[in-house]
Amino acid sequence: MNTAGLDPALMADLERETGELLSQLIQIDTSNPPGNETAVAELMAAWFRGHGLEGEVVGEPADRASFVLRLEGRQPGPTLLLLAHEDVVPADAAEWQVPPFSGLIRDGYVWGRGAVDIKNVVAANAVAVRRLAAAGAPFDGTVTYACTADEERALGGGIRWLIEHRPDLVRCDYVLNEGDGAHIPCGDRRLFMLQSGEKGTAQFRLVVHGRSGHGAVPLRAGNAVVAAARVVEALAARELPVLVEESSRDLVELLVEDAELRRRLRDEAQARAALEDLAEREPKLADMIEPLYGFAFAPTIVRSNSASINVFPTEVVVSVDCRTPAGHDESEVEAEIRAALDGVDARWELEWVNVVRGNASAYPTPFSDAIRAVLQRHVSHAELGNTHCVGFTDSNWLRAALPGVVAYNFDPHVEECHADVIARAHNVDERILIRDVAFQAFFAEHVALELLGRRS
Ligand SMILES: [Zn+2]
Repeated sequence: MNTAGLDPALMADLERETGELLSQLIQIDTSNPPGNETAVAELMAAWFRGHGLEGEVVGEPADRASFVLRLEGRQPGPTLLLLAHEDVVPADAAEWQVPPFSGLIRDGYVWGRGAVDIKNVVAANAVAVRRLAAAGAPFDGTVTYACTADEERALGGGIRWLIEHRPDLVRCDYVLNEGDGAHIPCGDRRLFMLQSGEKGTAQFRLVVHGRSGHGAVPLRAGNAVVAAARVVEALAARELPVLVEESSRDLVELLVEDAELRRRLRDEAQARAALEDLAEREPKLADMIEPLYGFAFAPTIVRSNSASINVFPTEVVVSVDCRTPAGHDESEVEAEIRAALDGVDARWELEWVNVVRGNASAYPTPFSDAIRAVLQRHVSHAELGNTHCVGFTDSNWLRAALPGVVAYNFDPHVEECHADVIARAHNVDERILIRDVAFQAFFAEHVALELLGRRS
């Protein structure tokens, strides 16, 4: 047990309640596409109603609704939004040990798609809010519970719909959202990384033009396939600038043991070589840190418009994934593309596919102080660090819509470690230790009390 001083009877109750609710949630298949999240929204509405609490099932289209409930404290004050999404990524049952939508409870785990991403938090937050209500909402301000549709593909529903159509429901000062937070063992310390920001995307296509013709008569010049190969090669070879920023500072300081390597990782002039050294010694750690050091070109699809092996295409499209650090944007990406392809023998044009600017909240804040206080009070040898999400979550939309909001991605796993939890998200045999869901409920409740003025 990695926790300390928690009442065993309370934790047993929390395990029972969160485990049962999570199992029910998993049994509703919200694979996105298509989503069908309304069934989860209605389950949560009924669950809260059973405890005497009324929220709203809202959103469009009708089968893709979210559920929101606002719990007012004893006096006016700031609003904390407890957020998690209802949808999950699809699961191929043939590859699983158990049916992925069974919600099976076995060996102390709840099994199924969504168990760690992120129906665990849909359940844990609900139990936290129910308990706060049962205690008479002993805080100053508002605690908002929201489980929302359409996170995994982000087509404009879910939290974005709420921001646009029902801002009254999601207006807030603080957001606790899904994200990192499974502990990283480090000697006898347990490190918890909170994500205060996230990278943006600047995904693009390069349309490479060529001359058509019969494959039996080789083109001496203008073969779009050959030109596209040169384009891909040049993008891959480009040394992109290294950015040593706040988002990587704590990871380097807390996790890289060698002081000399730490120093080089903090020095922009030496960081690239230092990252290569780190990747040789500790590849998993390098995978965590390297994406925070800037953006990278990741070509993922090459498609020719020739329908036949004996016809030269007029176009080959190279699709490239590219993520931008918070506060940087696609203009820097475009400058790098142009520099990389300068002098390359190819006729191409650039099309943006998906551009969303990355953003970040302040850190540290009273909110991170509250999170740290609750962890250190209840988890042995806990330390909290700050980083950014290298993927994407709904926190981005809230930060963009609500200037000044402090949105953190953090759902702590105290018993199972980061490597175990990360390996299960979006993967086969997704499951969560019930003790960890129970702690997540305890944590959300006590962070709300700590932040909104009544100590837990
Ligand atoms: Zn998620």
